[in-house]
Amino acid sequence: MTSLDGPYHDLRVAEVIEETSDSKSFVFDIPAELGERFSYRSGQFLTFRVEVAGHRIVRCYSLASAPNIDARPKVTIKRVAEGRASNWMNDEVAVGATLEVMPPAGHFCLRESDSPIVLFGGGSGITPIISIIKTALKTTSRPVKLLYANRNDRSIIFKEELTALFSAYPERLELVHRLDDVHGFVDAALVVQEIGPRTDADFYICGPGPFMDVVESALAGLHVEPSQIFIERFESPESPANSEPVDTSGGARVTIKLDGSETDVEVGDGETILAAARRAGLEAPFACEEAYCGCCMARVVEGDVEMLMNDGGIDQRQIDQGWVLTCQGIVKGRARVEYPD
Ligand SMILES: Cc1cc2nc3c(=O)[nH]c(=O)nc-3n(C[C@H](O)[C@H](O)[C@H](O)COP(=O)(O)OP(=O)(O)OC[C@H]3O[C@@H](n4cnc5c(N)ncnc54)[C@H](O)[C@@H]3O)c2cc1C
Repeated sequence: MTSLDGPYHDLRVAEVIEETSDSKSFVFDIPAELGERFSYRSGQFLTFRVEVAGHRIVRCYSLASAPNIDARPKVTIKRVAEGRASNWMNDEVAVGATLEVMPPAGHFCLRESDSPIVLFGGGSGITPIISIIKTALKTTSRPVKLLYANRNDRSIIFKEELTALFSAYPERLELVHRLDDVHGFVDAALVVQEIGPRTDADFYICGPGPFMDVVESALAGLHVEPSQIFIERFESPESPANSEPVDTSGGARVTIKLDGSETDVEVGDGETILAAARRAGLEAPFACEEAYCGCCMARVVEGDVEMLMNDGGIDQRQIDQGWVLTCQGIVKGRARVEYPD
């Protein structure tokens, strides 16, 4: 879809960089007419729709580039064992390919403050973290510390770029590498030790679930205010098919067109269209589920759908054209929605 109004835009891959044996970066050309729409803040992500083995899937990838520092936007994608999109991107996408991409979204960004910044990155979780580091070093005078955990030395993404940043800002950037095969997993004692007296810092965390849990619990133990803690989760929440049963006696129904097929789904009281779709086993696209990424957008072609909230995931022009965020969409009686072709 190339229309300026739809959620996806075609972007050309300008460069592919082999970062490690299991990760590649993809740099994009942004056509002049999309320049404003694809302007971004460090820490935000792009949402891609790709077709893998005949199925369309939607995945988010954080921008590892930094605005006003790197000339073009770049995402870095690490292979996940048996993962569809990550392996397809690494195997199939070459310079000159065109990908369907949604404009940048996300709240994992720097806030105005003079306090120090302490970041915890694990594996591919370094992507939004390095973007934030570059911007913080360039545009603020805040001290920055990174604890970066990896399986081994060969799996460190952006090793040279981080070393170069350290050389450029030796007074302000502190860099701590932790390698599982040398030091073991990061534990709460290490986190507390590395934070030291900087409990007034803003903390940014992105990495595998267990790594983030350790850091979060260490911060809780230090009584760090939740407002100082910023977390980006790469994993999707569990499907509602595995959770509590839903009361659908209210009679609301929605017909969902997704990937060329139509499914009629009963909707529970207060249940969103996305939740109903996932409960019915449909692979409807979503990421944030908090109304800011736009990933779950679908068009209402019949009936009435009310959105609980919109935190920038959809703009007024799209709303006027009938698009809704299905993670916020409540069906009034009966409705029919179509995910974008
Ligand atoms: C905001 C955000 C930013 C992100 N940024 C980045 C980034 O910068 N870099 C990055 O590399 N990743 C990033 N991710 C993660 C990325 O979006 C994908 O989740 C990741 O690449 C895996 O997708 P996949 O399609 O390859 O894996 P999937 O195909 O979704 O598979 C994931 C796992 O589930 C298993 N699985 C797959 N299908 C099934 C099935 N039918 N039954 C049971 N198990 C199954 C697979 O074995 C695999 O282990 C980000 C995620 C979010 C939400």
